[in-house]
Amino acid sequence: MSRALACLLLALQVTTPAAKFDAARAWEHLRQLVAIGPRPSGSPAIEQTRKYIREQLAAAGLTATEQVWDEQTPIDKVRMVNLVATIPGARKERIVFAGHYDTKLYREFRFVGASDGGSSAAFLLELARVLKARKNQLTIEMLFLDGEEARLPDWHGTDNTYGSRHYVDLAKRDGSLAGLKALVLIDMIGDRDLDMRRDTNSTPWLTDLIWHEAERQRLDDYFVAENTKIEDDHLPFLAAGVPSVDIIDLDYEAWHTARDTLDAVSARSLQVVGDVVLGALPLIERRLAAAPASRAR
Ligand SMILES: [Zn+2]
Repeated sequence: MSRALACLLLALQVTTPAAKFDAARAWEHLRQLVAIGPRPSGSPAIEQTRKYIREQLAAAGLTATEQVWDEQTPIDKVRMVNLVATIPGARKERIVFAGHYDTKLYREFRFVGASDGGSSAAFLLELARVLKARKNQLTIEMLFLDGEEARLPDWHGTDNTYGSRHYVDLAKRDGSLAGLKALVLIDMIGDRDLDMRRDTNSTPWLTDLIWHEAERQRLDDYFVAENTKIEDDHLPFLAAGVPSVDIIDLDYEAWHTARDTLDAVSARSLQVVGDVVLGALPLIERRLAAAPASRAR
């Protein structure tokens, strides 16, 4: 290689902007997932969903590992699978980006979960591509959770958040919990009428960073400065002492209805959340780097 070419390549490397979240790609993932149809835990369709997720991660240069277990739910025994893909960073400690990819089981109507189950998985796939190309301060883990939804019609007791509870139990047992410095949970972010409130169960400093970043990007019409209280996959992490934030729009007209289809969601909503999460990530990294290892909370 000539010296001039080497200099040119170096200059390109220095000036190439960080990879951006591309809502068109996320939208295509969402379309593919919805096309699979209803994707409840234990179904052939959710196995097909996993195949899609694995293939897309592989296309981004990532290998998915599986956490497989059999869960006794109030109505049946279900094989569940979390998918985990690791993107090494400068440090071994990790930030987990998680979301569920199962859809709620309905027998009385066809539920394809465009926002509820689809948007989180589609978002994480595109985020994985972006983060793989980024220089990350901490190791990043992309976590696709199974079994978020209750098996029975109503959300009650321990008949929900199966995947997140399994993940945290496993991390406690294998000693990897100590290296888990923060969780960013993504859930139901597809609503074309996006308005997300601050969840009071989430860790305040982490919520502040994200909502401030949204304000800085003038996206506070979507990241609304109001409070709500959410039970979701972040609760097992919070109970284990992991700073966690849930980014969710539960104010969704089509929630848990046959109308949670592509018509009710938009690529713009995925872009908004992608821009805010990626904008906040350096701030989260700085905060975690500044905190003594055991005092990151
Ligand atoms: Zn749901």
